[in-house]
Amino acid sequence: MEFTDVRVSAANLLLGEGRGFEIAQGRLGPGRLHHCMRLIGLAERALEMLCRRAGAFGRRLSEQGVTLERIAERIEIDKARWLVLNAAYMMDTVGNRAAKKEIAMIKVAAPKIACRVLDWAIQVHRGAGVSQDLLLAHAYAGARSLRLADGPGEVHRAQIGKLELCRYLSA
Ligand SMILES: Cc1cc2nc3c(=O)[nH]c(=O)nc-3n(C[C@H](O)[C@H](O)[C@H](O)COP(=O)(O)OP(=O)(O)OC[C@H]3O[C@@H](n4cnc5c(N)ncnc54)[C@H](O)[C@@H]3O)c2cc1C
Repeated sequence: MEFTDVRVSAANLLLGEGRGFEIAQGRLGPGRLHHCMRLIGLAERALEMLCRRAGAFGRRLSEQGVTLERIAERIEIDKARWLVLNAAYMMDTVGNRAAKKEIAMIKVAAPKIACRVLDWAIQVHRGAGVSQDLLLAHAYAGARSLRLADGPGEVHRAQIGKLELCRYLSA
């Protein structure tokens, strides 16, 4: 069996020997931004499915106040979208390190709203919502896992709290 020579030459080192972890860490911010962008898209898709289903049959579910309340999660989706846009703007203008609070904020907000809207969409689809016929249950598992992956929500919230406190303690 032949082995490829995997020794690294200086020419193809990305940042420097022993600095791989640094690269991995550096990718965390942009990676989280991508997760959140996808989650906003997922929340939009779930809201659309919720609305279409609510208006679709029998005594329309859309006539019930509780359904309208759930559709009004539009507010939270748009809030999360603006937070994501703001974090992206900060990363572009002041850098990932300076934008760490904004990144932590979206990593908490986006999975939370995606899960909530997916949950309401599942509810309005009844049994079909948790079946494999629709994308909702699978999407919920994905969105829910992003409350764990790339740092659990608690850790991001703790970081937000510390960064917020720093503004006052260091003054
Ligand atoms: C679908 C999925 C994909 C993943 N992909 C990757 C990947 O590509 N690369 C990679 O490196 N890792 C990946 N992970 C790992 C992921 O980053 C970790 O699972 C995550 O950071 C949580 O770490 P842990 O599992 O060790 O849980 P722990 O750190 O043990 O946390 C478990 C629970 O304890 C609580 N908790 C933890 N810390 C605190 C705290 N400080 N304060 C309060 N409560 C706390 C939270 O409720 C948390 O959910 C993935 C995980 C999942 C679920």
